[in-house]
Amino acid sequence: MEPVIVIGAGLAGSEAAWQLARRGIPVVLREMKPQRMTPAHHTPYFGELVCSNSLRSDQLENAVGLLKEELRRCGSLILACADEHRVEAGGALAVDREGFSREVTERIRTHPLITVEEGEVSSIPEKGDAIVASGPLTSDALAGEIQRLVHADYLSFFDAAAPLVTFESLDMEHAWFASRYDKGTADYVNCALSEEEYAAFWEALTTARAAEVHGFEDQNVFEGCMPVEVMARRGRDTLRYGPLKPKGLRDPRTGLTPYAVVQLRKDNAQGSIYNLVGFQTHLAWPEQKRVFSMIPALKNAEFVRYGVMHRNTYLDSPRLLDRYYRLRGRENVMFAGQITGVEGYVESTASGFVAAVELARRLLGQRPVDFPQETALGALALYVSNETVGAFQPMNVNFGIIPPLDHRVKGKRNKNAELSRRALDILGTLEI
Ligand code: FAD
Repeated sequence: MEPVIVIGAGLAGSEAAWQLARRGIPVVLREMKPQRMTPAHHTPYFGELVCSNSLRSDQLENAVGLLKEELRRCGSLILACADEHRVEAGGALAVDREGFSREVTERIRTHPLITVEEGEVSSIPEKGDAIVASGPLTSDALAGEIQRLVHADYLSFFDAAAPLVTFESLDMEHAWFASRYDKGTADYVNCALSEEEYAAFWEALTTARAAEVHGFEDQNVFEGCMPVEVMARRGRDTLRYGPLKPKGLRDPRTGLTPYAVVQLRKDNAQGSIYNLVGFQTHLAWPEQKRVFSMIPALKNAEFVRYGVMHRNTYLDSPRLLDRYYRLRGRENVMFAGQITGVEGYVESTASGFVAAVELARRLLGQRPVDFPQETALGALALYVSNETVGAFQPMNVNFGIIPPLDHRVKGKRNKNAELSRRALDILGTLEI
Protein backbone atom coordinates (compact mmCIF):
# COMPACT_ATOMS: atom_id res chain seq x y z
CA MET A 1 0.00 0.00 0.00
CA GLU A 2 1.22 3.52 -0.83
CA PRO A 3 2.11 5.42 2.35
CA VAL A 4 -0.02 8.36 3.45
CA ILE A 5 1.95 11.59 3.69
CA VAL A 6 1.34 13.48 6.92
CA ILE A 7 2.80 16.99 6.98
CA GLY A 8 3.68 18.30 10.45
CA ALA A 9 4.41 16.27 13.58
CA GLY A 10 2.55 18.51 16.00
CA LEU A 11 -0.43 17.38 18.01
CA ALA A 12 -2.72 16.70 15.04
CA GLY A 13 -0.05 15.21 12.77
CA SER A 14 1.35 12.89 15.43
CA GLU A 15 -2.13 11.67 16.35
CA ALA A 16 -3.06 11.17 12.70
CA ALA A 17 0.14 9.29 11.85
CA TRP A 18 -0.32 7.03 14.86
CA GLN A 19 -3.97 6.25 14.15
CA LEU A 20 -3.21 5.39 10.55
CA ALA A 21 -0.26 3.19 11.51
CA ARG A 22 -2.16 1.32 14.22
CA ARG A 23 -4.72 0.43 11.55
CA GLY A 24 -1.98 -1.01 9.36
CA ILE A 25 -1.52 1.96 6.99
CA PRO A 26 2.08 2.96 6.25
CA VAL A 27 2.85 6.64 6.88
CA VAL A 28 5.56 9.07 5.92
CA LEU A 29 5.54 11.81 8.53
CA ARG A 30 7.28 14.96 7.30
CA GLU A 31 8.40 17.52 9.87
CA MET A 32 10.61 20.57 9.37
CA LYS A 33 11.95 20.62 12.94
CA PRO A 34 14.73 20.75 14.00
CA GLN A 35 16.16 22.05 10.71
CA ARG A 36 13.63 24.83 10.71
CA MET A 37 11.70 26.09 13.73
CA THR A 38 8.55 28.19 13.87
CA PRO A 39 8.80 31.25 16.16
CA ALA A 40 6.99 29.31 18.92
CA HIS A 41 8.56 25.85 18.65
CA HIS A 42 11.88 25.33 20.42
CA THR A 43 12.53 21.59 20.71
CA PRO A 44 13.11 18.76 18.26
CA TYR A 45 10.25 16.76 19.80
CA PHE A 46 6.92 15.91 18.23
CA GLY A 47 3.66 17.08 19.78
CA GLU A 48 5.41 20.08 21.27
CA LEU A 49 3.21 22.24 23.51
CA VAL A 50 4.05 25.74 22.36
CA CYS A 51 2.65 27.61 25.33
CA SER A 52 0.77 26.35 28.38
CA ASN A 53 1.47 22.82 29.65
CA SER A 54 -2.23 22.38 30.41
CA LEU A 55 -4.67 20.51 28.21
CA ARG A 56 -7.42 22.24 30.20
CA SER A 57 -10.27 20.72 32.19
CA ASP A 58 -10.44 16.99 32.68
CA GLN A 59 -13.99 16.99 34.01
CA LEU A 60 -17.01 15.69 32.16
CA GLU A 61 -19.00 18.80 33.06
CA ASN A 62 -16.71 20.62 30.67
CA ALA A 63 -16.78 20.07 26.90
CA VAL A 64 -13.00 19.79 26.61
CA GLY A 65 -13.13 17.19 29.40
CA LEU A 66 -15.63 15.24 27.32
CA LEU A 67 -13.47 15.54 24.21
CA LYS A 68 -10.50 14.15 26.15
CA GLU A 69 -12.52 11.24 27.49
CA GLU A 70 -13.76 10.40 23.98
CA LEU A 71 -10.19 10.47 22.69
CA ARG A 72 -9.02 8.28 25.58
CA ARG A 73 -11.72 5.72 24.89
CA CYS A 74 -10.79 5.70 21.20
CA GLY A 75 -7.12 4.97 21.92
CA SER A 76 -5.58 8.38 21.30
CA LEU A 77 -1.77 8.57 21.30
CA ILE A 78 -1.72 12.15 22.60
CA LEU A 79 -4.08 11.39 25.49
CA ALA A 80 -2.17 8.23 26.42
CA CYS A 81 1.12 10.18 26.56
CA ALA A 82 -0.53 13.06 28.42
CA ASP A 83 -2.02 10.74 31.03
CA GLU A 84 1.35 9.07 31.49
CA HIS A 85 3.10 12.40 32.09
CA ARG A 86 0.41 14.21 33.99
CA VAL A 87 1.34 16.60 36.78
CA GLU A 88 -0.92 17.77 39.61
CA ALA A 89 -3.28 20.49 38.36
CA GLY A 90 -6.58 20.17 40.22
CA GLY A 91 -9.38 19.35 37.80
CA ALA A 92 -7.22 20.00 34.75
CA LEU A 93 -4.94 17.71 32.77
CA ALA A 94 -1.51 19.32 32.83
CA VAL A 95 1.63 17.50 31.75
CA ASP A 96 5.35 17.48 32.19
CA ARG A 97 5.98 19.29 28.94
CA GLU A 98 9.24 17.65 27.93
CA GLY A 99 8.35 14.17 29.21
CA PHE A 100 5.13 14.29 27.24
CA SER A 101 6.68 15.37 23.93
CA ARG A 102 9.60 12.95 24.29
CA GLU A 103 7.13 10.13 24.78
CA VAL A 104 5.11 11.13 21.68
CA THR A 105 8.34 11.29 19.67
CA GLU A 106 9.60 7.94 20.95
CA ARG A 107 6.35 6.14 20.17
CA ILE A 108 6.18 7.63 16.68
CA ARG A 109 9.81 7.01 15.83
CA THR A 110 9.71 3.40 16.95
CA HIS A 111 6.51 2.50 15.13
CA PRO A 112 7.46 0.13 12.29
CA LEU A 113 4.89 1.62 9.88
CA ILE A 114 5.91 5.27 10.36
CA THR A 115 8.86 6.74 8.49
CA VAL A 116 9.92 10.20 9.64
CA GLU A 117 11.37 12.55 7.03
CA GLU A 118 12.92 15.77 8.24
CA GLY A 119 12.81 19.03 6.29
CA GLU A 120 10.43 21.75 5.28
CA VAL A 121 7.62 20.70 2.94
CA SER A 122 6.79 23.28 0.31
CA SER A 123 4.32 21.40 -1.86
CA ILE A 124 1.32 19.15 -1.40
CA PRO A 125 1.54 15.84 -3.24
CA GLU A 126 -0.55 15.74 -6.43
CA LYS A 127 -1.22 12.05 -6.10
CA GLY A 128 -1.77 9.75 -3.15
CA ASP A 129 -3.31 10.63 0.19
CA ALA A 130 -2.01 13.45 2.34
CA ILE A 131 -2.99 15.03 5.64
CA VAL A 132 -1.75 18.59 6.07
CA ALA A 133 -1.28 19.27 9.78
CA SER A 134 1.26 22.06 9.70
CA GLY A 135 -0.42 24.16 12.38
CA PRO A 136 -1.09 27.82 13.06
CA LEU A 137 2.50 28.71 12.21
CA THR A 138 2.71 26.86 8.90
CA SER A 139 5.89 27.90 7.09
CA ASP A 140 5.47 30.58 4.42
CA ALA A 141 6.37 28.31 1.50
CA LEU A 142 3.73 25.74 2.42
CA ALA A 143 1.15 28.41 3.24
CA GLY A 144 1.69 29.83 -0.25
CA GLU A 145 1.10 26.40 -1.72
CA ILE A 146 -2.09 25.93 0.32
CA GLN A 147 -3.25 29.34 -0.81
CA ARG A 148 -2.83 28.29 -4.43
CA LEU A 149 -4.75 25.09 -3.76
CA VAL A 150 -7.75 26.63 -2.01
CA HIS A 151 -7.75 30.19 -3.39
CA ALA A 152 -6.21 33.10 -1.49
CA ASP A 153 -9.44 34.33 0.09
CA TYR A 154 -9.89 31.09 1.98
CA LEU A 155 -6.71 31.22 4.04
CA SER A 156 -6.23 33.60 6.96
CA PHE A 157 -2.88 34.43 8.47
CA PHE A 158 -4.00 36.41 11.39
CA ASP A 159 -6.63 35.78 13.94
CA ALA A 160 -8.42 38.81 15.33
CA ALA A 161 -11.41 37.37 17.04
CA ALA A 162 -13.99 38.76 19.39
CA PRO A 163 -15.09 36.65 22.37
CA LEU A 164 -17.97 34.21 22.05
CA VAL A 165 -20.56 33.58 24.76
CA THR A 166 -23.39 31.08 25.11
CA PHE A 167 -26.89 32.44 24.67
CA GLU A 168 -28.22 30.59 27.69
CA SER A 169 -25.74 32.35 29.98
CA LEU A 170 -26.98 35.85 29.00
CA ASP A 171 -29.13 37.81 31.39
CA MET A 172 -31.97 38.82 29.07
CA GLU A 173 -33.39 41.05 31.84
CA HIS A 174 -30.72 43.49 30.65
CA ALA A 175 -30.92 42.77 26.91
CA TRP A 176 -33.41 42.46 24.07
CA PHE A 177 -33.57 41.26 20.49
CA ALA A 178 -33.69 43.96 17.79
CA SER A 179 -31.91 45.27 14.73
CA ARG A 180 -30.89 48.91 14.51
CA TYR A 181 -33.88 51.06 13.45
CA ASP A 182 -35.92 47.81 13.57
CA LYS A 183 -34.73 47.05 10.06
CA GLY A 184 -35.16 43.44 8.90
CA THR A 185 -35.36 40.68 11.47
CA ALA A 186 -34.45 41.19 15.11
CA ASP A 187 -31.09 39.53 14.74
CA TYR A 188 -29.02 41.14 17.46
CA VAL A 189 -29.04 40.77 21.20
CA ASN A 190 -28.68 44.33 22.48
CA CYS A 191 -27.08 44.82 25.86
CA ALA A 192 -27.78 48.23 27.38
CA LEU A 193 -25.40 50.21 29.58
CA SER A 194 -26.39 53.22 31.64
CA GLU A 195 -24.05 56.22 31.86
CA GLU A 196 -22.59 54.99 35.15
CA GLU A 197 -22.18 51.44 33.87
CA TYR A 198 -20.49 52.71 30.72
CA ALA A 199 -18.10 54.91 32.73
CA ALA A 200 -17.04 52.00 34.95
CA PHE A 201 -16.69 49.70 31.93
CA TRP A 202 -14.61 52.23 30.01
CA GLU A 203 -12.32 52.77 32.99
CA ALA A 204 -11.76 49.03 33.41
CA LEU A 205 -11.30 48.42 29.69
CA THR A 206 -8.70 51.13 29.20
CA THR A 207 -6.61 49.99 32.15
CA ALA A 208 -6.89 46.21 31.75
CA ARG A 209 -3.83 44.03 31.23
CA ALA A 210 -2.98 42.99 27.67
CA ALA A 211 -2.01 39.43 26.74
CA GLU A 212 1.64 38.57 26.45
CA VAL A 213 3.09 39.21 23.01
CA HIS A 214 4.82 36.09 21.79
CA GLY A 215 7.50 37.97 19.92
CA PHE A 216 6.51 37.18 16.38
CA GLU A 217 3.27 38.99 15.80
CA ASP A 218 3.60 41.74 13.30
CA GLN A 219 2.27 44.79 15.11
CA ASN A 220 1.28 46.34 11.76
CA VAL A 221 -1.47 43.82 11.21
CA PHE A 222 -3.22 45.16 14.27
CA GLU A 223 -4.02 48.39 12.45
CA GLY A 224 -6.64 46.89 10.16
CA CYS A 225 -8.66 45.43 13.01
CA MET A 226 -8.19 47.60 16.03
CA PRO A 227 -8.58 45.96 19.45
CA VAL A 228 -11.56 47.35 21.36
CA GLU A 229 -9.33 48.47 24.24
CA VAL A 230 -7.09 50.45 21.87
CA MET A 231 -10.12 52.15 20.34
CA ALA A 232 -11.44 52.92 23.84
CA ARG A 233 -8.19 54.65 24.79
CA ARG A 234 -8.72 57.18 22.00
CA GLY A 235 -11.32 58.92 24.07
CA ARG A 236 -14.06 58.39 26.58
CA ASP A 237 -16.82 58.48 23.97
CA THR A 238 -15.05 56.84 21.02
CA LEU A 239 -16.79 53.52 21.60
CA ARG A 240 -20.17 55.24 21.87
CA TYR A 241 -19.64 56.47 18.31
CA GLY A 242 -18.24 53.12 17.24
CA PRO A 243 -19.24 49.56 18.16
CA LEU A 244 -21.24 50.65 21.25
CA LYS A 245 -23.33 53.31 19.54
CA PRO A 246 -26.93 53.24 20.76
CA LYS A 247 -28.42 54.98 17.70
CA GLY A 248 -31.56 53.37 16.32
CA LEU A 249 -32.04 51.15 19.37
CA ARG A 250 -34.79 51.60 21.93
CA ASP A 251 -34.80 49.63 25.16
CA PRO A 252 -38.30 48.08 25.40
CA ARG A 253 -38.16 48.29 29.21
CA THR A 254 -37.86 52.08 29.22
CA GLY A 255 -38.89 53.04 25.69
CA LEU A 256 -35.70 55.13 25.57
CA THR A 257 -32.41 54.95 23.70
CA PRO A 258 -29.79 53.70 26.18
CA TYR A 259 -26.51 55.51 26.87
CA ALA A 260 -24.53 52.77 25.13
CA VAL A 261 -25.31 49.36 23.65
CA VAL A 262 -23.13 46.31 23.14
CA GLN A 263 -24.51 44.20 20.30
CA LEU A 264 -24.18 40.45 20.15
CA ARG A 265 -24.52 38.61 16.87
CA LYS A 266 -25.47 34.98 16.31
CA ASP A 267 -22.41 32.88 15.70
CA ASN A 268 -24.06 29.60 14.77
CA ALA A 269 -27.27 28.60 13.04
CA GLN A 270 -28.88 27.27 16.24
CA GLY A 271 -28.35 30.61 17.98
CA SER A 272 -26.69 28.95 20.95
CA ILE A 273 -23.51 31.03 20.61
CA TYR A 274 -23.14 34.79 20.14
CA ASN A 275 -20.15 37.02 19.45
CA LEU A 276 -19.54 40.48 20.84
CA VAL A 277 -19.64 42.70 17.77
CA GLY A 278 -16.51 44.83 17.35
CA PHE A 279 -14.85 43.34 20.42
CA GLN A 280 -11.70 41.89 18.87
CA THR A 281 -9.23 42.25 21.68
CA HIS A 282 -5.71 41.59 22.83
CA LEU A 283 -6.50 41.58 26.54
CA ALA A 284 -5.37 38.69 28.75
CA TRP A 285 -8.15 36.10 29.09
CA PRO A 286 -8.89 36.62 32.82
CA GLU A 287 -9.09 40.35 32.11
CA GLN A 288 -11.61 39.76 29.33
CA LYS A 289 -13.78 37.82 31.75
CA ARG A 290 -13.48 40.52 34.42
CA VAL A 291 -14.07 43.51 32.16
CA PHE A 292 -16.69 42.14 29.75
CA SER A 293 -18.70 40.70 32.63
CA MET A 294 -19.27 44.32 33.71
CA ILE A 295 -21.77 44.60 30.86
CA PRO A 296 -24.97 43.89 32.82
CA ALA A 297 -26.37 41.27 30.41
CA LEU A 298 -23.00 39.49 30.49
CA LYS A 299 -22.72 39.39 34.27
CA ASN A 300 -22.71 35.58 34.31
CA ALA A 301 -21.71 35.03 30.70
CA GLU A 302 -20.05 31.78 29.81
CA PHE A 303 -17.18 32.52 27.44
CA VAL A 304 -16.73 29.66 25.00
CA ARG A 305 -13.87 31.47 23.38
CA TYR A 306 -11.94 34.55 24.40
CA GLY A 307 -10.85 37.19 21.93
CA VAL A 308 -7.41 36.68 20.44
CA MET A 309 -5.06 38.55 18.19
CA HIS A 310 -2.14 36.52 17.00
CA ARG A 311 -0.66 34.93 13.96
CA ASN A 312 -2.75 31.95 13.05
CA THR A 313 -2.88 30.30 9.67
CA TYR A 314 -6.29 28.74 9.21
CA LEU A 315 -8.68 27.82 6.44
CA ASP A 316 -12.19 29.04 5.87
CA SER A 317 -13.13 25.43 6.51
CA PRO A 318 -16.94 25.73 6.19
CA ARG A 319 -16.35 26.61 2.55
CA LEU A 320 -13.63 24.04 1.97
CA LEU A 321 -13.79 20.91 4.08
CA ASP A 322 -16.28 18.11 4.58
CA ARG A 323 -17.08 16.44 7.90
CA TYR A 324 -14.08 14.11 7.44
CA TYR A 325 -11.70 17.11 7.11
CA ARG A 326 -11.27 16.34 3.38
CA LEU A 327 -10.84 19.11 0.85
CA ARG A 328 -14.06 19.16 -1.16
CA GLY A 329 -13.37 18.38 -4.79
CA ARG A 330 -9.92 17.00 -3.98
CA GLU A 331 -10.64 14.33 -1.42
CA ASN A 332 -7.14 12.86 -1.36
CA VAL A 333 -6.01 15.99 0.50
CA MET A 334 -7.12 16.33 4.11
CA PHE A 335 -6.34 18.93 6.73
CA ALA A 336 -6.05 18.46 10.47
CA GLY A 337 -5.26 20.51 13.54
CA GLN A 338 -5.43 24.20 14.18
CA ILE A 339 -5.17 24.96 10.45
CA THR A 340 -8.76 23.68 10.07
CA GLY A 341 -10.02 26.30 12.51
CA VAL A 342 -10.33 24.13 15.57
CA GLU A 343 -8.67 25.90 18.47
CA GLY A 344 -6.55 24.32 21.18
CA TYR A 345 -4.28 21.37 21.86
CA VAL A 346 -7.05 18.84 22.46
CA GLU A 347 -9.21 20.06 19.59
CA SER A 348 -6.22 19.86 17.23
CA THR A 349 -5.57 16.32 18.41
CA ALA A 350 -9.25 15.45 17.89
CA SER A 351 -9.27 16.61 14.28
CA GLY A 352 -6.10 14.62 13.56
CA PHE A 353 -7.79 11.61 15.09
CA VAL A 354 -11.01 11.91 13.07
CA ALA A 355 -9.21 12.63 9.80
CA ALA A 356 -6.98 9.58 10.23
CA VAL A 357 -9.79 7.22 11.25
CA GLU A 358 -11.85 8.23 8.24
CA LEU A 359 -8.91 7.95 5.87
CA ALA A 360 -7.85 4.58 7.25
CA ARG A 361 -11.37 3.21 6.91
CA ARG A 362 -11.59 4.41 3.34
CA LEU A 363 -8.24 2.87 2.44
CA LEU A 364 -9.30 -0.38 4.08
CA GLY A 365 -12.59 -0.40 2.14
CA GLN A 366 -14.70 0.20 5.25
CA ARG A 367 -17.63 2.59 5.71
CA PRO A 368 -16.91 6.00 7.30
CA VAL A 369 -17.72 6.35 10.99
CA ASP A 370 -19.74 9.60 10.78
CA PHE A 371 -19.15 10.69 14.38
CA PRO A 372 -22.56 12.14 15.33
CA GLN A 373 -23.01 15.70 16.52
CA GLU A 374 -23.89 14.49 20.02
CA THR A 375 -20.24 13.48 20.47
CA ALA A 376 -17.64 16.18 20.94
CA LEU A 377 -15.52 14.62 18.17
CA GLY A 378 -18.45 14.82 15.77
CA ALA A 379 -19.66 18.25 16.89
CA LEU A 380 -16.26 19.77 16.21
CA ALA A 381 -15.96 18.18 12.74
CA LEU A 382 -19.50 19.25 11.86
CA TYR A 383 -18.90 22.78 13.14
CA VAL A 384 -15.82 23.43 11.02
CA SER A 385 -17.48 21.96 7.92
CA ASN A 386 -20.85 23.65 8.45
CA GLU A 387 -21.55 25.88 5.46
CA THR A 388 -24.09 27.94 7.41
CA VAL A 389 -21.33 29.32 9.63
CA GLY A 390 -20.70 32.78 8.17
CA ALA A 391 -17.58 34.70 9.17
CA PHE A 392 -15.67 31.66 10.34
CA GLN A 393 -13.26 31.97 13.22
CA PRO A 394 -11.38 29.28 15.10
CA MET A 395 -13.36 27.67 17.87
CA ASN A 396 -12.72 25.70 21.04
CA VAL A 397 -14.98 22.75 21.67
CA ASN A 398 -18.01 23.73 23.80
CA PHE A 399 -21.46 22.45 24.63
CA GLY A 400 -23.02 25.16 22.44
CA ILE A 401 -22.15 23.13 19.32
CA ILE A 402 -23.65 19.92 20.72
CA PRO A 403 -27.44 19.45 20.34
CA PRO A 404 -29.35 20.07 23.60
CA LEU A 405 -30.97 17.28 25.63
CA ASP A 406 -34.59 16.45 24.87
CA HIS A 407 -35.58 17.05 28.50
CA ARG A 408 -34.91 19.64 31.18
CA VAL A 409 -32.15 19.10 33.70
CA LYS A 410 -31.69 21.42 36.64
CA GLY A 411 -28.31 23.10 37.00
CA LYS A 412 -25.66 23.65 34.35
CA ARG A 413 -23.18 21.14 35.76
CA ASN A 414 -25.82 18.41 35.88
CA LYS A 415 -26.92 19.22 32.36
CA ASN A 416 -23.37 19.17 31.02
CA ALA A 417 -22.65 15.91 32.82
CA GLU A 418 -25.71 14.41 31.15
CA LEU A 419 -24.68 15.68 27.73
CA SER A 420 -21.34 13.96 28.32
CA ARG A 421 -22.99 10.73 29.41
CA ARG A 422 -25.12 10.77 26.27
CA ALA A 423 -22.04 11.39 24.10
CA LEU A 424 -20.06 8.56 25.66
CA ASP A 425 -23.01 6.15 25.36
CA ILE A 426 -23.31 6.97 21.66
CA LEU A 427 -19.56 6.71 21.16
CA GLY A 428 -19.68 3.24 22.69
CA THR A 429 -22.00 2.06 19.92
CA LEU A 430 -19.73 3.20 17.07
CA GLU A 431 -17.42 0.88 15.22
CA ILE A 432 -14.15 2.83 15.09
P1 FAD B 1 1.41 22.32 15.77
O1 FAD B 1 1.38 21.64 17.08
O2 FAD B 1 1.94 23.68 15.67
O3 FAD B 1 2.20 21.36 14.77
C1 FAD B 1 2.49 21.75 13.46
C2 FAD B 1 3.82 21.14 13.07
O4 FAD B 1 4.02 21.36 11.68
C3 FAD B 1 4.99 21.79 13.79
O5 FAD B 1 5.78 20.80 14.37
C4 FAD B 1 5.72 22.54 12.69
O6 FAD B 1 7.12 22.56 12.89
C5 FAD B 1 5.37 21.74 11.47
N1 FAD B 1 5.42 22.47 10.20
C6 FAD B 1 4.99 23.73 9.90
N2 FAD B 1 5.21 24.03 8.61
C7 FAD B 1 5.82 22.94 8.06
C8 FAD B 1 6.34 22.63 6.77
N3 FAD B 1 6.25 23.50 5.77
N4 FAD B 1 6.92 21.43 6.57
C9 FAD B 1 7.02 20.53 7.58
N5 FAD B 1 6.57 20.76 8.82
C10 FAD B 1 5.97 21.94 9.06
N6 FAD B 1 -3.58 25.94 22.46
C11 FAD B 1 -3.85 25.53 23.72
O7 FAD B 1 -4.72 24.66 23.91
N7 FAD B 1 -3.18 26.05 24.78
C12 FAD B 1 -2.21 26.98 24.63
O8 FAD B 1 -1.62 27.41 25.60
C13 FAD B 1 -1.90 27.43 23.31
N8 FAD B 1 -0.95 28.36 23.10
C14 FAD B 1 -0.63 28.74 21.84
C15 FAD B 1 0.41 29.66 21.66
C16 FAD B 1 0.77 30.04 20.38
C17 FAD B 1 1.90 31.02 20.19
C18 FAD B 1 0.07 29.52 19.26
C19 FAD B 1 0.45 29.92 17.88
C20 FAD B 1 -0.96 28.62 19.44
C21 FAD B 1 -1.33 28.22 20.72
N9 FAD B 1 -2.36 27.30 20.95
C22 FAD B 1 -2.64 26.88 22.22
C23 FAD B 1 -3.21 26.85 19.84
C24 FAD B 1 -2.99 25.42 19.29
O9 FAD B 1 -3.69 24.54 20.08
C25 FAD B 1 -1.60 24.96 19.20
O10 FAD B 1 -0.97 25.80 18.29
C26 FAD B 1 -1.46 23.48 18.73
O11 FAD B 1 -0.13 23.12 18.87
C27 FAD B 1 -1.95 23.22 17.34
O12 FAD B 1 -1.70 21.88 16.96
P2 FAD B 1 -1.33 21.50 15.46
O13 FAD B 1 -1.02 20.06 15.44
O14 FAD B 1 -2.40 21.98 14.56
O15 FAD B 1 -0.06 22.37 15.12
